[in-house]
Amino acid sequence: MSHRLRSSAWVRALAIFALSCAPLLAVCAYAEAASPLATTKLLYGPGKIVPIPASIPHEEGDMVDKRILPDLRWIAKRYPIYVTDGYSGPLPNGEHVGCNRCHVKGSDHYNGLAVDLVPLNGDGKCDATWAPITRLALWAEPTQNHPRAPFRWVGYDGDAGHGCGHHLHLSWEHAAVPQFEIAEWVEVFPVGEQPARKPRKRPKTPPAPPPGPSGGISTVHSGGLSVRGD
Ligand SMILES: [Zn+2]
Repeated sequence: MSHRLRSSAWVRALAIFALSCAPLLAVCAYAEAASPLATTKLLYGPGKIVPIPASIPHEEGDMVDKRILPDLRWIAKRYPIYVTDGYSGPLPNGEHVGCNRCHVKGSDHYNGLAVDLVPLNGDGKCDATWAPITRLALWAEPTQNHPRAPFRWVGYDGDAGHGCGHHLHLSWEHAAVPQFEIAEWVEVFPVGEQPARKPRKRPKTPPAPPPGPSGGISTVHSGGLSVRGD
């Protein structure tokens, strides 16, 4: 009897929760509610710097490590983003990709594991077009300087050179790697549509985060101040 009572109370609570969520879902042009981040995983090679596909709005010529494309695609479906920079550095053929000397030393842009985002169809000003980007930033970094896995660093309001009207920087956690090289592994959130990949495995020892607290930002972030970086 007491068990049945407990169960029905639980069902009622669930129903109330579901009802309270419904209006929120209804007003979202982009379905932002579902978070796939209950678990993340480490993707081991083969990584490669590839062009960003048309399904992810971007500046012509932008490229990233292909292992973050499923996550980026997932984000682009839910938030009206426009990628302004991804990989920054040389290609094997000697051609240069991305902005030149615009990221700080050690930036994840030098490994193709970071993107800079602005609103799709924005006008450059911090106006209503940035609202979804702000929601994306808060989703990726609910508390300043504590990004949600698999993000390594999130640059937005409170980070110099980032924020509404400037850009949102997202970096994915990855194995330590010199600039312009492919990281051994990248941490991603599963989206259920990744290409074939090697079985999940973890390093024998917990991966040490790459040096520096951010996507190349080399100063302390507490207090919400940091140097202009990515
Ligand atoms: Zn950046």
